[in-house]
Amino acid sequence: MGLETSILPAGQAGAEAAARTLAAGGLVAFPTETVYGLGADAANAAAITHLYAAKGRPAFNPLIAHVADLAAARRIGRFDACALKLAEAFWPGPLTLVVPKTDHCPVSDLATAGLDTVAIRMPAHPVAEAILRAFGGAVVAPSANISGHVSPTLAAHVASDLAGRIDLIIDGGPVAVGVESTIVGCFEAPTLLRPGGLSRERIEAVLGLPLARPPVETESDDSQPLAPGMMASHYAPRAQVRLDARDVAPDEALLAFGPDRLPGQEATAAVMNLSPTADLDEAAANLFGYLRALDAKAPRAIAVMTIPEEGLGEAINDRLRRAAVAR
Ligand code: AMP
Ligand code: MG
Repeated sequence: MGLETSILPAGQAGAEAAARTLAAGGLVAFPTETVYGLGADAANAAAITHLYAAKGRPAFNPLIAHVADLAAARRIGRFDACALKLAEAFWPGPLTLVVPKTDHCPVSDLATAGLDTVAIRMPAHPVAEAILRAFGGAVVAPSANISGHVSPTLAAHVASDLAGRIDLIIDGGPVAVGVESTIVGCFEAPTLLRPGGLSRERIEAVLGLPLARPPVETESDDSQPLAPGMMASHYAPRAQVRLDARDVAPDEALLAFGPDRLPGQEATAAVMNLSPTADLDEAAANLFGYLRALDAKAPRAIAVMTIPEEGLGEAINDRLRRAAVAR
């Protein structure tokens, strides 16, 4: 694409430059609490076309509209009692709500892949909030990486994927949560569409009922998918990923978790521990950065120790399973 990509530090000048670039139809990467996002004006079809092209993202995979407050969210989507309850409990924060579009929804049909629902989130990050307020409209912002790659948790990760393809990167340092938002569909039964940075347990405690699972889609099913774009292979490093490792070979790298050591660990060149104390929040924050760092050593495979399926472990395991799908 041959664009000149500027990198600016977070701050007032950075937020204003980001807002100007968005208003002119440009693409701006900025930090949120989950991962770095690649923003475009949600109402600008040309900008959204450029965003899909810059990421190499298939156009059937819809985008999340980011807003600075609930009033902006309610101009985009219709909030029923359940959606309001979740927004009030968890916004700003790592929760995306899928709700019906309003009649005059300003979000481009290109961003919602032609669905009559829209995904909305209010990020809990001062830099993201400053950019949204300076811009004034909704900003669609998928993760700032080439589609299918590991998501970025540092500005340097964004630059290594997207330099020359986007206009601006705002560097706000490392992100706090490290995995993408949890997506809940506010349908008749509230449905967990994607596990993420807010645990299922915390959402169910507020709702007072278990989240439904999305129906399994079959190939002959021509109804609209509830969770489009949940690609089997995603978040993928170059190396193969081997899950639930009980031992490790000398030509593998090891992504460890918790205090235990595996047979063969002394002989491997690269070991990184997501959380030596088995803290799942810490593991989520380290996940994508450690996958990138181990991958850079070009091992035959990355062996991953078992991670418990609770709290943020559900999101970590979701990302790891999709990183492990053979391509
Ligand atoms: P990403 O921006 O890559 O974190 O992914 C956004 C995800 O949100 C997509 O992959 C979709 O699965 C989901 N999503 C966005 N809009 C909708 C929608 N209207 N209905 C259901 N899921 C959606
Ligand atoms: Mg992504």
